[in-house]
Amino acid sequence: MAKIICVLYDDPIDGYPKSYPRDSIPKLTVYPDGQTTPTPEAIDFKPGDLLGSVSGELGLRKFLEDLGHTLVVTSDKDGPNSVFEKELHDAEIVISQPFWPAYLTAERMAKAPKLKLALTAGIGSDHVDLQAAIDRGITVAEITYCNSISVAEHVVMMILSLVRNYIPSYQWVIKGGWNIADCVSRSYDLEGMEVGTIAAGRIGLGVLRRLKPFDVKLHYTDRHRLPAEVEKELNVTYHPDVESLIRVCDVVTINCPLHPETEHMFDDKLIGKMKRGAYLINTARGKICDRDAIARALESGQLAGYAGDVWFPQPAPQDHPWRTMPHHGMTPHVSGTSLSAQARYAAGVREVLECWFEGRPIRNEYLIVEGGKLAGTGEHSYSKGNVTKGSEEAARFKAS
Ligand code: NDP
Repeated sequence: MAKIICVLYDDPIDGYPKSYPRDSIPKLTVYPDGQTTPTPEAIDFKPGDLLGSVSGELGLRKFLEDLGHTLVVTSDKDGPNSVFEKELHDAEIVISQPFWPAYLTAERMAKAPKLKLALTAGIGSDHVDLQAAIDRGITVAEITYCNSISVAEHVVMMILSLVRNYIPSYQWVIKGGWNIADCVSRSYDLEGMEVGTIAAGRIGLGVLRRLKPFDVKLHYTDRHRLPAEVEKELNVTYHPDVESLIRVCDVVTINCPLHPETEHMFDDKLIGKMKRGAYLINTARGKICDRDAIARALESGQLAGYAGDVWFPQPAPQDHPWRTMPHHGMTPHVSGTSLSAQARYAAGVREVLECWFEGRPIRNEYLIVEGGKLAGTGEHSYSKGNVTKGSEEAARFKAS
């Protein structure tokens, strides 16, 4: 029988919800490209409930315990004395969400000789040292597409809130003011602007489709080009590299995975080549940007705004400069964990675990690493190597 460790974020500070603002969520069966939403044989949770926090347990306990497995659920993930690290020694499966990532470094893998499956309840498995997983023959899988549209919606919200200066205007209301000039002296229309995405995968393409009705000029760069009919439909300009795109764009949104090719891509040099007063939206991964270069660019005015929900490490320490830099629209990592998204990735986790325990293959599109190499979506969208370096700094959040 297997031991499964599931690392989830804490419950709300007022306790696990007893009710929700809405009674149901829409039921989707296919994603925009025709891929089916998760197809587990059964689920033991109500879609729309909070599943991603410790008490929600991703709806897994009954299923796993009925099969005789042991489930350990914890939010205590950082540092050598954490529950996560103490429980690792005999775990076969680790489940973690990118929002509250259980960093699976090579050192931690070395403490987990029985570990066979690292399962991401969400999208983005950069919190796992993929090179070490390749070397150790550990399977890494994620729930591809489960929250791509959730993020695409969030990106559109963040672009509009930065360009139109929404957050400071909202704060004037809370402060009891009516300071129109203060609100509008940083406020523009998005219409007519050049908007580009770094990567046009599931999220990037979702962003392009959602922005088309805003009458903006669309741009993208990606390792693989979109089909010609899609480029035509969206009237989107392809750029062979990031630099070509950022030179012409007023708004840049980052939608590629974090892997060695994309780590610290937005540094002082690249940001310096952007238009003065550009907006940068990063809901992909914090480490794709150089932390201090972003803060410097906002201070100098090279960037007019920066927004996103991804940081490095997570949770971000209290003194992380992105908490206090000017003209930012940061939130904790939430875009991919709406209640709607949680229902999909909890069902996807259940589907993968059913396959795992019944010896059936995991869907190819869910695979990142299998059999000692990048596989499935991992083969297409990632490159080999490790980007977990520095993740031990996440322990500073707990200490502060
Ligand atoms: P996809 O795999 O559909 O898309 C990723 C795209 O990035 C692919 O088209 C890939 O290209 C492209 N890409 C990879 N490397 C590069 C590069 N060096 N330069 C340009 N393009 C590159 O994934 P999603 O769109 O669903 O998700 C993307 C990322 O967003 C995730 O990996 C994750 O990090 C993040 N994410 C964040 C969430 C949040 O809550 N904030 C939730 C979900 C995801 P190709 O495959 O053509 O080679």
